[in-house]
Amino acid sequence: MAQLSTFRQALSQSRRPLILAGAGLSAASGIPTFRGAGGLWRSHDAMSLATPQAFRADPARVWAFYHYRREVCLKAKPNGAHDVVARLSGRERAKEVFPSAVDVPTFVTQNVDGLSIRALEEGEKAPIEMHGSLFRTRCTSCGTEKPNFNSPVSAGLVGTEDLSKEYRAVPLEDLPRCQERSCGGLLRPAVVWFGESIPELSRISQHVQRADLVLVLGTSSTVYPAAGFASEVRSRGGKAAVFNLEGTLGSSEESDGDSDWFFRGPVEEMLPWALGIKSSSL
Ligand code: NAD
Repeated sequence: MAQLSTFRQALSQSRRPLILAGAGLSAASGIPTFRGAGGLWRSHDAMSLATPQAFRADPARVWAFYHYRREVCLKAKPNGAHDVVARLSGRERAKEVFPSAVDVPTFVTQNVDGLSIRALEEGEKAPIEMHGSLFRTRCTSCGTEKPNFNSPVSAGLVGTEDLSKEYRAVPLEDLPRCQERSCGGLLRPAVVWFGESIPELSRISQHVQRADLVLVLGTSSTVYPAAGFASEVRSRGGKAAVFNLEGTLGSSEESDGDSDWFFRGPVEEMLPWALGIKSSSL
């Protein structure tokens, strides 16, 4: 297959590979994607749940939704695609797949589900979670941000998907509070909401500017700035490979419009195949 051999050649020549992931990476773990069929924001109004204004107006409602999402993610397990990317984030496996690379690939994920972190083994580099994490909280008063795998909602707030039916208000003082010294400020999920800036953007941009090969895994490439990374790399002469169940605008059998290689199919199967990694060796 012509496209596989040219792709493998690009892997072996890349000095600064970049991996960008979206919700499709976690689909096989049972986490709903964003806009696809069954997607999260098809059944929920993003503007009433994932904005700073929504949180100010009704923090209990927003926490109920995020509490529900955290529970779904905690029950889920990393899948084969998370495992492959995690192994590539370790020096040994990175050297096999990217023998010319100066370091392990930079891995940027748009996902907030924590699964790529949970897939890591010792010595493997953590991804940059560009849209934050469901498993971190930030204080709205002192700004302290911390990992938080415990349920911060202990005060009887039921995590619920169907906010119209099951949601019940919890008094403000019973919502999760900052434990730093005597702060006591209201905690919020440390995710990047619509209309907010991306704290890691300048670090990510540096990596994108240097990358010569980008693997785009399971993202519909509709949310900017991540949606523009592949074309930015290509505009400087770099290459892009897209792994997705379906093509986006301008796609054909072998190209996804804005890519040099298009691997159509489940990323958890196509990625190890295209990289030549046996799932038994993960
Ligand atoms: P999206 O839903 O817009 O796109 C998902 C893409 O994945 C689609 O193009 C779909 O065809 C593809 N896909 C689905 N299953 C796949 C599979 N098994 N293999 C390969 N491709 C598959 O999601 P997005 O592009 O990541 O949208 C960006 C926003 O969605 C981000 O801001 C992210 O924070 C948010 N989000 C994250 C999660 C999560 O953390 N898992 C879940 C939902 C939304």
